[in-house]
Amino acid sequence: MRKKKPPLPEFGKLPPMYRFILNPYTDVRFSTCPKCYGKMMVRKVPLFIHVQPKYPTTINKHCRYCPKCDILIAHQDELEHALALTYEKRQPEIIGNEYFVLGTLEPSSWRKRERVSLGMENVQEHVHDFKERLGIEYTPAHWGHLVRKARS
Ligand SMILES: [Zn+2]
Repeated sequence: MRKKKPPLPEFGKLPPMYRFILNPYTDVRFSTCPKCYGKMMVRKVPLFIHVQPKYPTTINKHCRYCPKCDILIAHQDELEHALALTYEKRQPEIIGNEYFVLGTLEPSSWRKRERVSLGMENVQEHVHDFKERLGIEYTPAHWGHLVRKARS
């Protein structure tokens, strides 16, 4: 039984990028693309995340990327580990809160983050939403996986 994901409003003002998959399976690492079965590249991407109730967070993270399908995959366990490291000192009480990966931060804003601080009120100008969010159907018994639309 699969829970329907709540729809996310448009957030970023920059053109959408990437077809995004948050991979919940720790035993599947996607060295090959789930759609075209080509070899996936590793790309470091500043993922823009909203942690409830009001903590905009950017995690610059290695993701899997297929240039042919424009599919970007982040492993959920690694992402949550990075989030926990980010908040364990400054805001430990929010660790475990619900979060949404809203898109990617413009790389130039990521590089300037020490000088120009971004809050929820001004960050929209610097965020690319995802073109599409995809989910993964993974059936261990068949050792295969399919890409499906997360919102339909
Ligand atoms: Zn592909």
